[in-house]
Amino acid sequence: MYNAKAYAAASATSPLAWSAISRRDPTEHDVQIEILFCGICHSDLHTVRNEWSGLMPTVYPCVPGHEIVGRVTKVGPAVTKFKPGEVAAVGCMVDSDGACPECQAALEQFCPNMTLTYNSPDKHLGGVTYGGYSDSVVVNERFVLRVPSNLDLAGAAPLLCAGITTYSPMRRWGVSKEKKVGVVGLGGLGHMGVKFAHALGAHVVVFTTSPHKKEDALRLGADEVVVSRHAGEMQKHAGSFDFILDAVSADHDINAYIQLLRRDGNITLVGAPAKPLAVAAFGLLFGRRSLSGSLIGGIAETQEMLDFCGAHNIAADVEVIPIQKVNEAYERLLKSDVKYRFSIDTASLKSE
Ligand code: NAP
Ligand code: ZN
Repeated sequence: MYNAKAYAAASATSPLAWSAISRRDPTEHDVQIEILFCGICHSDLHTVRNEWSGLMPTVYPCVPGHEIVGRVTKVGPAVTKFKPGEVAAVGCMVDSDGACPECQAALEQFCPNMTLTYNSPDKHLGGVTYGGYSDSVVVNERFVLRVPSNLDLAGAAPLLCAGITTYSPMRRWGVSKEKKVGVVGLGGLGHMGVKFAHALGAHVVVFTTSPHKKEDALRLGADEVVVSRHAGEMQKHAGSFDFILDAVSADHDINAYIQLLRRDGNITLVGAPAKPLAVAAFGLLFGRRSLSGSLIGGIAETQEMLDFCGAHNIAADVEVIPIQKVNEAYERLLKSDVKYRFSIDTASLKSE
């Protein structure tokens, strides 16, 4: 066991602050990584503030962070995938049983024994797992990914959650040329959704509550931008979408988007607002439309997504911040004020 530096929340109402945490020494199949960048996902904020207390109560102290990019410092004797000095990445999961039907189907995110990168029982040290707002992490090599060498590392970190969470449902629902695709909410997830839908050749429409994001949305790859508070603008798109990705973090009217789907169109929720959404049955009955959810993606698909990003030169648009600004970043996230993902430069932990 060794000590690592981290930022942790002591309770649902305390700010994140410096803390020393324990990490295990790498065992046989483990990779030890010096963390260079960690993205700030809205899920970090939901968890730190215990907003998902019903389903996933937060255990404190909580060290969030599941968009990790770093450099390998040490590997266990049985590790074959990585060598010290190489760039490596870790997303939302650090372990699964490897034996259940979900793992066999390469859908580790649905394994009943999956371990999340933070706030999951830690099999090795007891307590809960600690995430990437830290200078170091130790992870089984099955859950360590390769980053294409042409990608900027600060911008690559968010691919590990925002990237795979938007890529996976787009592949699942056949986003491609000649498809009309909507992306609701231009935040961390949404802006990745726009980049992927554009790269896959779809006609992309962004729905935003923030009129000032219009030009950015077009630059990111949108063909049209709709300010969702304008009922008239929404109405123009009624019954026309093949697929809509809903990446909104707060309560909102999903029925307004269901109405925009064509026959057999699908809307997939990736956003995880704390409060249940109200769904009017008739919106789904007429047109045989469907409403789905999607949770990150399996490890093989995450690597596929990273390779796709390498081939298409896709990374997140990031505001790089020192970890000392993390509490300010959370306040800005709540105001939808980020372009379009915060990426923590963990070198800033050295001064703590
Ligand atoms: P984010 O960067 O804060 O983006 C959320 C966006 O939602 C905002 O930028 C804003 O876009 C829109 N929004 C916020 N409040 C709104 C409101 N009251 N009404 C309508 N729109 C609103 O968050 P994120 O990191 O992308 O995460 C989004 C959600 O996905 C979170 O709930 C997160 O927990 C969840 N998530 C799920 C998964 C998964 O596996 N399913 C993975 C990661 C994250 P505009 O300014 O454009 O309106
Ligand atoms: Zn996330």
